[in-house]
Amino acid sequence: MIKENLQDIRNRISEACQRSGRDVSEITLIAVSKTFSSDKIREAHHSGIADIGESYVQEMTGKYKDLKNESIRWHFVGPLQRNKVKYIVDFVHLIHSVESLKVCQEIEKRASRIDRDIEVLVEVNTSGEPQKHGISPDEAPKLIDEIGVFDHVHVRGLMTMAPFVDDPNDARPSFKLLRDLQARLLDNGVPEILVQHLSMGMSNDFEVAIEEGATMVRIGSSIFGERLQ
Ligand SMILES: *Cc1c(COP(=O)(O)O)cnc(C)c1O
Repeated sequence: MIKENLQDIRNRISEACQRSGRDVSEITLIAVSKTFSSDKIREAHHSGIADIGESYVQEMTGKYKDLKNESIRWHFVGPLQRNKVKYIVDFVHLIHSVESLKVCQEIEKRASRIDRDIEVLVEVNTSGEPQKHGISPDEAPKLIDEIGVFDHVHVRGLMTMAPFVDDPNDARPSFKLLRDLQARLLDNGVPEILVQHLSMGMSNDFEVAIEEGATMVRIGSSIFGERLQ
């Protein structure tokens, strides 16, 4: 099942790229495996997925231990508390959900001890919904600037979650807002490498996200099936 689902997603990514004049090599597909077992992750990995996303620290560290021998890139996409940073800092590939300087200070502290560079994205609330994580678009320039002082924490772009809507087109304004913010940062002289990635698009809206410039899509249920919790 996972293999067929992945093929279907790849086809849809490719069609969205064709529609918007983009190359599929610009898009990283991240399989978000929260609530699913390590065996399912292995199955996805053996079907060609290198990038796995998880939302909870404890769950991710457990699965990382189970799958240590696989060459998986682990993406952390959930809310990250400062006291949990230490559990992921030695293996995480990319943290998508940075929303405060305090957490970055902790990442810097832990990363410097093991002399490891950690790449992060700044999560932006583009829907204005209070229950969504992320900083407001207006706060992003300051936070990106502040993270610039660290030797081991490196910003590589922006992440957002669109509102849950029935029609994926209704998610488009959120994605546009993130891309406009990226453009604004570039106009203000922020180096391209700091804002190169836009992590946006999930199972129900990834095609629209790709049309609007996503470089990473985070897809869970369309690969692994419906989550029971
Ligand atoms: C769960 C989750 C996803 C995947 O959601 P699906 O709708 O199952 O594709 C993507 N991003 C984040 C941050 C998530 O928590």
